[in-house]
Amino acid sequence: MASLGYVVIAIGFGVAGGVVGRIKGSSFLLWFLISGAVPVFGLMAAIAYRFERDELRRQCPRCGKVVKIYDALCMRCGMELELPEVAVMSEGMEQRARRKARA
Ligand SMILES: [Zn+2]
Repeated sequence: MASLGYVVIAIGFGVAGGVVGRIKGSSFLLWFLISGAVPVFGLMAAIAYRFERDELRRQCPRCGKVVKIYDALCMRCGMELELPEVAVMSEGMEQRARRKARA
């Protein structure tokens, strides 16, 4: 039987991992479960998890929808996507550029 102390630690790590995952645009519940199941490693994985918003994007050649660069299928028209020659800047980059232009 797990001791109460361990349960408290697991929940603490779970919440911390969940919050980190959520900030990075992932699921709170997913990272709560991962960090609760493997407390220290789960939290580290949540911190190392890539920033979704900083992924490069590209445009679907058929319908023009902007998708993540690693997507193999267009979410709108279902077209299979080759690796693109031209990347669209990431949402994070776009936001920083816009902020700089305003200043
Ligand atoms: Zn498309």
